[in-house]
Formats: sequence, structure tokens, C-alpha cells
Amino acid sequence: MTLISNHMPTAELQALDAAHHMHPFTNGNELAGRGARVITRAKGVTLTDSEGNDILDAMAGLWCVNIGYGRDELAEAAARQMKELPYYNTFFMTTHVPAIALADKLAKLAPHDLNHVFYAGSGSEANDTNLRMVRTYWAQKGKPDKKIVISRKNAYHGSSVGSASLGGMSGMHAQGGLPIPDIHHINQPHWWAEGGDMSPEEFGLARARELEEAIHELGEDKVAAFIAEPVQGAGGVIVPPETYWPEIQRICDTYEILLIADEVICGFGRTGNWFGSQTYNIRPHIMTIAKGLSSGYAPIGGSLVCDEVAEVMNDCEFAHGYTYSGHPVSCAVALENLRILEEEGIVDRAGAETAPYLKEKWDLLTDHPLVGEAKIAGLMGSIALTPDKSSRAAFAADAGTAGLICREACFGNNLVMRHVGDRMVISPPLVITKPEIDTMIERAWRSLDQAHARLKDEGLM
Ligand code: PMP
Repeated sequence: MTLISNHMPTAELQALDAAHHMHPFTNGNELAGRGARVITRAKGVTLTDSEGNDILDAMAGLWCVNIGYGRDELAEAAARQMKELPYYNTFFMTTHVPAIALADKLAKLAPHDLNHVFYAGSGSEANDTNLRMVRTYWAQKGKPDKKIVISRKNAYHGSSVGSASLGGMSGMHAQGGLPIPDIHHINQPHWWAEGGDMSPEEFGLARARELEEAIHELGEDKVAAFIAEPVQGAGGVIVPPETYWPEIQRICDTYEILLIADEVICGFGRTGNWFGSQTYNIRPHIMTIAKGLSSGYAPIGGSLVCDEVAEVMNDCEFAHGYTYSGHPVSCAVALENLRILEEEGIVDRAGAETAPYLKEKWDLLTDHPLVGEAKIAGLMGSIALTPDKSSRAAFAADAGTAGLICREACFGNNLVMRHVGDRMVISPPLVITKPEIDTMIERAWRSLDQAHARLKDEGLM
């Protein structure tokens, strides 16, 4: 039997991958034609591939490796827990120490009275929990008609049937008959693409007021909750205008609806504070968490729930849960991750030192002829590619063509930067150093130059 290992030639690994592995969000045939890049190791912010290339991972994996790669303490926490108690559930009047300790830690870290956690295995699962929880909450309060959850177009809340329905990705809705009933989508606060002649401030208010209009139109007695990411991540790092969140909060305070902040990306230091809700002064009733909770070292997600909602939910048996809700190994890894993020001052430093430095450098990219706006929130950022900055024009080619060209140039320059349509996005590990930021910007600039030249050569601008 051939042992499949890092020592195998890349082409053989790629052939086996193409033969048997179906990749998420990927055209399998296209990938098989070019061969997947095989990542073999990682340390800090640097990935190594099977050809020995060192690649700067400006995406922290999928927005999740906040602590950086290669922290032995997390591996050791997992090994210790696997030896002591690799698995037990919390369904039938049982619990275990890792679940208790992590819940206690989360209650202390989370703002306001988000003192309770319902564990899940991922962000998608946690948002499915939220969907069922808010509807169950209102039913428990004698208002079973309050079922509609309002979300936003171009939001990302996960890939399960429930969470993808909550999300507002039209490409996802087009496959498999989504969304499910009683989900309503309003417009996003994406000024660059949709702001027209309004100032960002006017536009932020107008988009927030769509929530109020939707509540009136659907009926306050029918609406259970509003869900949103503090900063839309997968939608393209859309940092909302300053006027947006205060107005949303006012509306949520005025009407009897629950506010769910999906902090799967924004949580655990990404926006420069522990939670995006703190950065934007939001007071959610429920917060979705995952990703940075364990820095991606083990799969875990959850819903942080405020006292009032938990009190109502605790009055019934919520017929909901996952085999891996509160998985002891994931909880132990998450706890160790949070300990390090806190004790080593990683989150504090990211907000106070790294974020301002990154912003200064990131903003310089607007000097590039291909770049319209540059947006940044803590350590998540985006740039809009455009053929004409002054009119905020889109490219004549299909949306995403220029972005893909730029992403490929980045890959060629050993930089992982993702494209969302024609926006380039970053979300590096929080531990990225100033010299590494300089390297990242230098590679991004070189990639933009190459993309610019190619777009011109191909008559795309
Ligand atoms: N919510 C948001 C805001 C996300 O960005 C993601 C993942 N990118 C999810 C939910 C889904 O999380 P998961 O992939 O862990 O299911």
C-alpha cells in the first residue's frame, strides 16, 4: 500500500485529491485541471506548500487563525483532553469540565449580559441554533407568530439550509431551493457599490431605516429578530458607514425584536476589540461565535445568549443540539486559545498597535491606479478594484473577473489574499508583525501592478 504523505510528489497528491476529494465552493473540474496547491505546514503567519514555497497568509486560513499557526500549547491542550476524556455529550443531565470552564470564560469575556452559551460545532450550526431559538423564544412568550428573521442581502451566515437561508448570497440561494420561508432580506450598507449620489453618512442611515420599513411592512407581531455581521466579512469586508449601527440599534430598541450579532469573523479580536459589538457599540441579545474562538485549531461554534432570552429558553426543553455541542477537546483548545490571546495581550496589541499601523499602510493602496477605496476595521480590510475611481465604476467584464486576476497574481507572489467579486480582502492572524505587514503590502502592490497590466493587455480596462 502506498502511504500518502507530505513526501509524495505534488502531482500525485493533486491527482488523488482530484479523484476523491470534493472541495467546498469550488468547480471540481476546473480545480482538477490546474491542481490544488498542497499546504503542508504553517508557522506564525506563514504557510508552506509541497513545493517548499513560503506563503504569507493574509486571510488567517478562513478568517480564523487569530492566534497564528503553530502554537504547541493548543496541541498539548488537545492531547491532554483526548487522553482524559475524548468525548462525552451534554444532552442527558451530564456535563464536563471543559464545557463548564469555557462557558464561564465566555461569560466573563462577552459584553453586557451575554452570560450563557449554547455550543455548536461551527458557525453555520450556531446560526441554525439561533434561528430555532428566537422562534422558540417568542413561542414560549405566547407569540408564536413572531417567526420572521430579517437579514441582509450579501450577508454570510453559513452553508447549512438554515444559515444559508439567513445569509443573503444569491448564488447560494439559487442552488437547492433557498431561502426557507419566513426569512426576509433588506439591502446592505455597501456605500461603494450601491451608495449612488448619497454621502456615506446619508446612505448608512437610509439603509438602516430599511429595517424599520421592513418591520412596519411585515408587522412587528410577525418579526422575531434581525441578524447581521457587525462588518460583513465574506460579502467583501463591507465596513458600514458610521451612521449605520447607531440607527439599527435605535430601531432594535424601539421595536420588540431580538438582535443577533453574527460575530463568527468579528469576534475574538478581529475588529480591534474582543467583539465587533464593542467596536460598533451594539447590544445584541444573541451573538454567534466560531472561528477565532479556537483560532481554527479545533471545530467549535456557539451562541452567546443574554440573561432574558436564556431565562425564557430555560423554561422549556429546547429540542435541539448537536453530537459535538460542547465537544470536550474543542472546548479545551478554545480555552487555551483564549488564555493565550488574553494573557499575551494579543487582542489588546492588535487593537492598540497593529491595527493603526495596518490602516496607515492599507490606506496607501488607494494611490494605486486600480484601487478605489480602502476600508479597514481592526485587522480586517478590503480594497475595491475599479477602472475609474472618480465614478466608482464597475468593470465591464463579469463581476469577479478583475478580482480573480488579482488573486492569482497574489498567489504567484506568495500572498494569500482573497477576492470577493472585484474587492480584495484581508484578515491576517492577529499576531502579524509590522515587518510582516510591510511584506504583505509590498506583495499586494506588486500583485496589483501585475493585475493592472494584465487587465489592460486583455482589454478589460
Ligand atoms: N457567519 C459568518 C459571519 C461567517 O463568516 C461564517 C463563515 N465564513 C459563518 C457564519 C459560518 O461558519 P462555519 O463555516 O464555521 O459554519
